[in-house]
Amino acid sequence: MNITFIGATRTVTGSLHLFEFNNQKFLLECGLYQGHREDAERINRTFPFKPKDIKAVVLSHAHLDHSGNLPNLVKRGFLGSIYCTPATKDIATIILLDSAKIQENDFEYLNKKQKEKGLPIKEPLYSIEDAEEAVTLFSEINYEETFEPVRGVKVTFYDAGHILGSSVILLEAEGNRILFSGDLGRENMPIIKDPVAVGDIDYLILESTYGGRIHKSFAGMTDELKGLIEQGKEKQSKIIIPAFAVERTQILVTMLKNLYEEGTLKDVPVYVDSPMATDVTEVFRNHPECYDKETYKMFADSDPFNFPGLQYVRDAEESKKLNEQQGPMIIMSASGMCEGGRVTHHLIHSIEDGKNMIIITGFQARGTLGRNILEGAEKVHIFNGEYVVRAQVHFMGGLSAHADGNDLVEYVQKVKNGRLKHVYLIHGDIDETMALQQHIIASNNIAVDIPQSGTQITV
Ligand SMILES: [Zn+2]
Ligand SMILES: [Zn+2]
Repeated sequence: MNITFIGATRTVTGSLHLFEFNNQKFLLECGLYQGHREDAERINRTFPFKPKDIKAVVLSHAHLDHSGNLPNLVKRGFLGSIYCTPATKDIATIILLDSAKIQENDFEYLNKKQKEKGLPIKEPLYSIEDAEEAVTLFSEINYEETFEPVRGVKVTFYDAGHILGSSVILLEAEGNRILFSGDLGRENMPIIKDPVAVGDIDYLILESTYGGRIHKSFAGMTDELKGLIEQGKEKQSKIIIPAFAVERTQILVTMLKNLYEEGTLKDVPVYVDSPMATDVTEVFRNHPECYDKETYKMFADSDPFNFPGLQYVRDAEESKKLNEQQGPMIIMSASGMCEGGRVTHHLIHSIEDGKNMIIITGFQARGTLGRNILEGAEKVHIFNGEYVVRAQVHFMGGLSAHADGNDLVEYVQKVKNGRLKHVYLIHGDIDETMALQQHIIASNNIAVDIPQSGTQITV
């Protein structure tokens, strides 16, 4: 089998790998590269293969950096099946249609400017129609059921414990067992199961997002949140929680449900103000097969994603009304890095008041509004306005959906069984990846490489 690493090599986004077996080509993932506009345009619009020659795509999970270029692949001639778990299919459908809408809106705006300048108009990377076409190609495969995307290659999904429906992918051909980690989650996180360590592996392709870092554990996060809400109650705060629509919002809702049952949320209404998060929560409700034991049990008694005092807001007018409402109250809203979406309006209306609170719950990329707020900026720009940051800012570090350096090294130990020949590290900024490489080599006698885009191996 030939493997060509293409995307998410020495960087986090744009996951894309080409596999060839007996002249049959298939892809692992087809993610969107997210970064500076010019780089993103060039990388996302160029496939180093002919899409119509690809027989199948195997997808680890729904996140945009893994699935987001599928509509473009379809637009350029791909006609095969896209294999993934049922929950991944449902979440990816929401994500791809949303992404297409954003692309169309962006280009509408851009083309207005181009026309004004007398310049030629440009086409978005893909349209809503392309995304609709792509989702018809999804083929659902349950965890631990083996299938053949191309003749002679057996593939099995195992739970990756990263987001609902996420998989580590086992590929078997000619006696070789190759494991692709996708994005690897952490043990003991709410809602979903722990990552599965698949044994007797010959080759491991492993993500390294946080290869050089150690996370706070999840235990203690609910108490930390409780403490912040108690403070907020005393000061009548509006508590704004920017949260990713997939997984982070649902985890926070289950934490808040526990706090409601303890009595902490008495007289504190909670709003999930994001249509996308609301849709994704519905997908979570429809996939109890992905839950861990605690969530499964909770579902038997009541809906884990609902409690009295919690309201999912879809309507834009209702969202605006929240601006006039007095605290204490909690508003959870997307986008998670404050780069768009309804959370920006809530920040405009609350950031300058010292009694309010902003709780950052996840990774904030450099250059984003969320990162500026987290790093203690005195003033921030939102749309065309400048705002003084007077609200208190807190960071909850234990909610990450990615394995940290120790988890990743432990995972290597679990899968090696004296047979593992080679580890390839992908999906990480180079300093994180190199830190992990050192760490794995120090505790194992295994070759560990960091492929570049275009690196080809034969196994
Ligand atoms: Zn992911
Ligand atoms: Zn990823």
